[in-house]
Amino acid sequence: MVKADNVHKYFGKVEVLKGIDLEVRAGEVMCVVGPSGSGKSTFLRCINHLEKVSGGRLYVNGHLVGYREKNGKLYELRDREVSEQRREIGMVFQRFNLFPHMTALENVMEAPCRVKKLPKAQSRARAEELLTRVGLGDKMGNYPSQLSGGQQQRVAIARALAMDPSLMLFDEPTSALDPELVGEVLEVMKSLAADGMTMVVVTHEMGFAREVGDSLVFMDGGVVVEQGAPREVLANPQHPRTREFLSKVL
Ligand code: ATP
Ligand code: MG
Repeated sequence: MVKADNVHKYFGKVEVLKGIDLEVRAGEVMCVVGPSGSGKSTFLRCINHLEKVSGGRLYVNGHLVGYREKNGKLYELRDREVSEQRREIGMVFQRFNLFPHMTALENVMEAPCRVKKLPKAQSRARAEELLTRVGLGDKMGNYPSQLSGGQQQRVAIARALAMDPSLMLFDEPTSALDPELVGEVLEVMKSLAADGMTMVVVTHEMGFAREVGDSLVFMDGGVVVEQGAPREVLANPQHPRTREFLSKVL
């Protein structure tokens, strides 16, 4: 589903991803942890081509992300083709990024109407279904300013799901939330995982990683230092850097 093959990323002369090799199979949840600046967000952003890789290859659903390969050479895809690739991928950020002038329902309907050109009635029905699924059936008419952080984040998840992605990327979806609101967002993510969604989740919620993750990846300094079954990595980290990091967050 996702395959990273020796992915490098430079910002100017600074190499922030130094050869990432990772694979996420369909239906799996990969949790990514690591210190600030280790390249977690950059890696996620490369998966949907918000950042262009500087070297190596990334595949989503068997398709090379952002490029076409011809006679061993890579050619950049056109914007339209990149947009098509991105439709397969839903992304949820730390900040909820909802449209402030739209209700929860309108936020969820927006992309299917605009991008997929779905008839309004159809996208409305789907948006209602999704908002109900994330526990917001009674808040559909609220504007973001009339919702708590946890509710806003659940709208953001419903909005990403409205495009029927086959892959969901989460970049610290609960780190901007008050502690008492974290659980409701993790519950929604957990139910998504139980339904078989393929997910890559950057998070410091080790309980979630342990319970829901199929694999746990520890990144530091632009490399994957260690990866394995979450229980294994958490209970018995092999690398000193992993141990040091975990001792701070656990
Ligand atoms: P955090 O836990 O703080 O979110 P992270 O692991 O997500 O950290 P990244 O945001 O991927 O880290 O950043 C990795 C490195 O790349 C950092 O040193 C950062 O300063 C640098 N970086 C990220 N984006 C850019 C950019 N657009 N231009 C230049 N440098 C960047
Ligand atoms: Mg980050």
